[in-house]
Amino acid sequence: MKINDKVHLLESTKGSYAYLVLGEEPVLIDTGNPNHDKQIVAELAQLGLKPSNIAHILLTHSDVDHIGNAKALQAASGATLWAPQEDVPYIHGEKKLPGFRRIIGATMKVDRPNVSHTYAAGQKIGDLEVIPTPGHTPGHISIRYNDILFTGDLIMTRAGRIKPAPGFLTWDKAALQKSLREVGHLTFDYVCPAHGRPVERGNLWDAFL
Ligand SMILES: [Zn+2]
Repeated sequence: MKINDKVHLLESTKGSYAYLVLGEEPVLIDTGNPNHDKQIVAELAQLGLKPSNIAHILLTHSDVDHIGNAKALQAASGATLWAPQEDVPYIHGEKKLPGFRRIIGATMKVDRPNVSHTYAAGQKIGDLEVIPTPGHTPGHISIRYNDILFTGDLIMTRAGRIKPAPGFLTWDKAALQKSLREVGHLTFDYVCPAHGRPVERGNLWDAFL
């Protein structure tokens, strides 16, 4: 799905959407569920890109359905792989987040990538702006590009509405509420989540302020 001339939702990642941003350099935001790297490479080809055209892969957080193809795509592209510092031990499998994620982790096998870069405060990667939005995981980030906010799992959408990611997958509820409130003060017009289709912001974020 073409969001605009520079931004595409990758349909091959249905279930946990990754996005392609053709900013200063081509960037992937998240990588979807495991075992979809061939489909993703095929979709990039349809958009006229070789894997080696991808300069950066930006992970929003450590969950398996976001890092699923990071290792394969990193190998295929030679892109730098970015992640939040606080989530790196979970991405590398050195630590496990508590609760329901342990069950998911036991049932979903993932090739764990090697994170090469971590986001600093105020990090910009080309014309993409990294916004810390902890709560779903300790280091969760969102990304702003012009009038679009890529939310990772900060929120989900369903039937054109926005709701927070489910409580049973929330690492810290108070931190999540704070992140939702702070993001609400930023300027953006479109919301691109991993779960659910993109929506126009309108007044949909007002409930979190
Ligand atoms: Zn998640």
